[in-house]
Amino acid sequence: MDIAFQSADIEPALPGRYVYGTPWQRFGLYNSYVVVGSDGRILKMPAHAGELVPGSTEDLVAALDECHGDGFPAVPMTVELDPTYQCTSHDCGGYCFSAGYRSMSPSASIPYLQLERFIREFRAAGGRILRFDGGGDPLAHKGIRSGALVELAASQGLKTTILTSGDLLDRSDLARIAESGCYVRVSLNASTNRTREAFHGNEIPLTRILNGIEELSRLLTNLRSDVPVGATFLLAPINFLEVAEAARMARSVGIRHFSVRRILGPEWLRPTFGKKQSDLLNDLLSEVRQMHSDDFRVAVPYRPVAQPDLNPANGEFCATQCWQSTLKTVAEPNPGGGIQLQLCGRYRGGGVGQRLAMPALVSLPQPMGWVERWQESFTDFPVSRKDLLKTCVSCIDRGFILMVDRLVNFLRHTSGPITILHLDSPTPHEVVEWNSRASSVSAKVSAQ
Ligand code: SF4
Repeated sequence: MDIAFQSADIEPALPGRYVYGTPWQRFGLYNSYVVVGSDGRILKMPAHAGELVPGSTEDLVAALDECHGDGFPAVPMTVELDPTYQCTSHDCGGYCFSAGYRSMSPSASIPYLQLERFIREFRAAGGRILRFDGGGDPLAHKGIRSGALVELAASQGLKTTILTSGDLLDRSDLARIAESGCYVRVSLNASTNRTREAFHGNEIPLTRILNGIEELSRLLTNLRSDVPVGATFLLAPINFLEVAEAARMARSVGIRHFSVRRILGPEWLRPTFGKKQSDLLNDLLSEVRQMHSDDFRVAVPYRPVAQPDLNPANGEFCATQCWQSTLKTVAEPNPGGGIQLQLCGRYRGGGVGQRLAMPALVSLPQPMGWVERWQESFTDFPVSRKDLLKTCVSCIDRGFILMVDRLVNFLRHTSGPITILHLDSPTPHEVVEWNSRASSVSAKVSAQ
């Protein structure tokens, strides 16, 4: 598969702003792929960098290219590595994916040397993207906070990110983390200490977190790095009134990507917003949306805050297989020691935080040989990657699954090189199939 990222003659036919440059330069600026086959076929579909971060379209295409004839990859493209269950935040209002762990005061961590072996094996097998994630807060693990494992991963050629509450930024070696080219994303969730305290369940002042962000941003600027610092804001009734002020605050300390999130999950997991609250929230989100610029990129949910996740088992969306658990995996501490691999973030801890159950893909006392065991899970796990879409009742990764499914189906029917253009489309949710040689749109449907 030959991929070129350059202009094409189709720009006038599919309007919008075409985005070029490095993956970080494109990050947060496009909402669609325009896939152009050498046979003249064109597919426009929803796509955004958030599904891949800190990886890129190039990583996705390369990972698909490396799949075996049976459609199984030799190694995950991405690992979400939870080094520890420990966290300085309590349970983030009960909405943390790990709320079930938090109530048990979990403390299991993966020892440093095991993490090192895990990372080396991942890269040696061809892995690309490493997200230090949680579970707990990755910065609660000394190996991450010191920057040592981030530096190791970067030196091996992995793209890294740390997804953190930010509570321990000022205790972390930010210079080493910045020099490793790591993307740090902080869960801000408030603009006042009172709300932050109520949401995160600790008394760490916001100024301490914001100072850490400002310092990291300064270090990256001094390094002339194009890696941004990001922040998220998870919407709940106790904090939503602060979302616009939090965005302004984030912009003032050097955050360059601000992403507002709905709490995902089945209905019983999510908070309820009244009509008045929903109206207020819509106004605030529109204010945040208007802050979007090339220097401060904003992502705001387009779905109503009350809308539940789609249920694939009920046929609410369809794909040929679960591409999330095909191309990615979650690695977390095994409470009895060692590591366990999970299908996706929904099943961290076997789904304990969500009252959803699924066995671990793999459990190992030591990480040696984990890639091979992960590969075996394609044939020896009780539910196949195809059948997951008839089994899971609430999917948090629908966007990624549909994006990959459409891309794979296009590639299956195309021989020769393709080009992928990144488009900021005025109709981001539309799927358009078009044959440029026949000069006709062959199919135009709304995205699921
Ligand atoms: S919840 Fe979604 S992403 Fe996770 S295993 Fe099920 S289908 Fe795949």
